Amino acid sequence: MTPSRKSKYYAPEIETMDREELENLQLQRLKWQVRRCYEGSDFYRERFDKINLKPDDIKSLDDVVHIPPVSKEELREEQMNYPPFGRYAIAPQQNWEELHPSTGTTGVPVNTVWSRRDVENITQWTARVMWSFGVRPGDIVQNGFAYGLWVAGLSVHYAAKAIGCFVLPIGASMTDRHIDYFVNPGATVLIATPSFAFYISERMKERGISPDDIPLRIGSFGGEGGTEAPSTRKRIESRLGIDAYDIFGLAEIGPTCAAECEAKAGLHFVEDHLLIETINPQTMKRCEPGEVGVMVMTHLTKEATPMLRYWTNDLARLTTEKCACGRTHVRCAGGILGRADDLIIYKGENFYPSQVEKVVKSFGELGDEFRIRLTTDEKTGMDVVTVVAEYTTAAANTDEFKSKLRQAFRDELLVTPGLELVKPDTLERAMFKAKRVEDKREKSG
Ligand SMILES: [Zn+2]
Repeated sequence: MTPSRKSKYYAPEIETMDREELENLQLQRLKWQVRRCYEGSDFYRERFDKINLKPDDIKSLDDVVHIPPVSKEELREEQMNYPPFGRYAIAPQQNWEELHPSTGTTGVPVNTVWSRRDVENITQWTARVMWSFGVRPGDIVQNGFAYGLWVAGLSVHYAAKAIGCFVLPIGASMTDRHIDYFVNPGATVLIATPSFAFYISERMKERGISPDDIPLRIGSFGGEGGTEAPSTRKRIESRLGIDAYDIFGLAEIGPTCAAECEAKAGLHFVEDHLLIETINPQTMKRCEPGEVGVMVMTHLTKEATPMLRYWTNDLARLTTEKCACGRTHVRCAGGILGRADDLIIYKGENFYPSQVEKVVKSFGELGDEFRIRLTTDEKTGMDVVTVVAEYTTAAANTDEFKSKLRQAFRDELLVTPGLELVKPDTLERAMFKAKRVEDKREKSG
């Protein structure tokens, strides 16, 4: 049932649950999930038997560390050996409702199935996170996420309906139509990737429509990084005249399973459905509080393709400190910090594409698009990193500005990449997810 629009929470009893009670609930659900995976899935049983682990050995939440993490590569291999779903698809097939493969940006897509109950849970948790950033019954929600196989288009659609919103299911295309609907019927909420939101805002400016002319008040952006960076957020907020919130999900675990609340104090995860750990990828040990590590996620309620300790490759710093909003569920401050495999190593320093974005977006003289080009120096055989960005005013294409920009990169990355400033509109725009890193290095061996 939809709460009253004045209610601060969509599901108060769950969202503000005392942590001890929440952890008890998680443990009860974890035991259920581990047992059904062991008994119903040859894939999991083989992994347990190999190290002589039994469901009864999981007595506390901490005992989950005994279960070996599962990588995307292993899921892919399992699905190739046992097509098309692998032996971890364990709910009875008559209860299956939807298929949502991963996007395949890093290889063959991995098939994920939602059962009827999974669809209900995903709808409820997405409604909860949308409510947390201010969506209410009567809002006009313009869904700019891609519809179809991609996970988040439908989750936002179902959730907006569950809240009692009027949904405009446009998807990640028809930029001008998005702008038309901002004006009339007057969308109040936009959900999209940050890349697409920037693209829409550029087009809006070209058409001479000011943010003051439209009733849009909330935007939530995910599917790729960006919104969590203060400079990107500020830019998107002023261009569209909104409050912008980060939202996060992943195909194997579920869409829209975390979002910022109105306090904008990091992504809150739906911890009654997911057990979340961070692991130091070097030592493979659990992270200490405040330490950055790879998120490893376990499904507590998922029926159809449950994951026990899925290695997400996403880096985060978790905190269970109570948020100003009163919610008790775990947050990752500063959003997702990058992908463990996106790390760029240059002249002995390590950095992530998100740090480059932070610098680019902090300069008004630069446009929204940029690329990080990796090449090989012909003479030395060493890697060369070049940031390609668009200037917005000719004044930016001066030595003085470039040296200011170089200094800003040096402060953020501890190393200075090469710089190439190009004319506005040179780089291709993305309606879905932007591909920022171009690896043109000569592969050795
Ligand atoms: Zn909060």
